[in-house]
Amino acid sequence: MAVEEKKKKKVIKVDVDKCNGCRACETICSAFHAEPKYSSTNPEKSKIRVLFDPIRDVYVPVYAGEYTEAECNGRGEYTIDEKTYDECAFCRASCPARDYFKDPDSGLPLKCDMCLDDPPQDEPLCVKWCLADALTYEEVDEDGDEEKEETADEMETGLGALIKKHGFKRVMEILAKMNEEKADK
Ligand code: SF4
Ligand code: SF4
Repeated sequence: MAVEEKKKKKVIKVDVDKCNGCRACETICSAFHAEPKYSSTNPEKSKIRVLFDPIRDVYVPVYAGEYTEAECNGRGEYTIDEKTYDECAFCRASCPARDYFKDPDSGLPLKCDMCLDDPPQDEPLCVKWCLADALTYEEVDEDGDEEKEETADEMETGLGALIKKHGFKRVMEILAKMNEEKADK
């Protein structure tokens, strides 16, 4: 019997304590995504950015996530091991509140693609280039919970629409009838 291969999720783990702000990750990411590949470097085009404040010894590598049209209004500061991080320090969004993760030429949002390549890279390039080991790469099994949640949401939306149209009682009657028919088989 064929063994079903589990879907893998690619994860880059960030250890802010190990980051020294060298910005090699920004350099290689922008070079890899340059047109043609490796023809130029520009940190502003990188899909990983390093927020750094040497006076406070704060270095936070953040790789680009989803685009959002509107900035959030529920921000806060984080204090971890007696260091205070700015309100947006850990956020991965390409957002109107800041210039990170927007292509400086086109203004289009940038999002990490895990160095999509053909043939595939064995490891993301920012991880390879991080000599301080602040970035580590892992492939973890997807447990399917996200998929289950999405299906539940879809079912809820579908049932909600039916109840709105036919009424709760009628939908329950039909479900009970279907259940009876199934039990008779
Ligand atoms: S390459 Fe590593 S140490 Fe250098 S800035 Fe990026 S994450 Fe930090
Ligand atoms: S994984 Fe690749 S695309 Fe993503 S930030 Fe690192 S170098 Fe850039």
